[in-house]
Amino acid sequence: MSRKSKTCFNKLNGRPLSEYYSKTEALESASYIKKKFRQNLVPYKCSKCGFWHLSPKNRQTPSTTCKYCTDRNGNYKELYQSKSDAEKRAKILARENHVRLNVYKCPYSDGWHLTKK
Ligand SMILES: [Zn+2]
Ligand SMILES: [Zn+2]
Repeated sequence: MSRKSKTCFNKLNGRPLSEYYSKTEALESASYIKKKFRQNLVPYKCSKCGFWHLSPKNRQTPSTTCKYCTDRNGNYKELYQSKSDAEKRAKILARENHVRLNVYKCPYSDGWHLTKK
């Protein structure tokens, strides 16, 4: 069973996201949703709340956390494995949050970051 997140919301409709304790739990729910609603969802670990959420497959941009770079708030930045992943994420954020982001190569590790102009 899933619970509704108190911290994370769907950026498109403002509804709370379902949160799961484990990837297994999220995967079970994803396969149920696939059967019932014919939606393809993939689990991802949320960097905000630490639980798992589900996200439509075409939104997934594989990323890890950079060990070296922090943002203005002192949080470690998302590190994208490829430039195209970073660009894809920048496009999603531009559409949903109306922010313009630039892609740049991490100076310390093998990956890409986004930065505000
Ligand atoms: Zn979350
Ligand atoms: Zn970095």
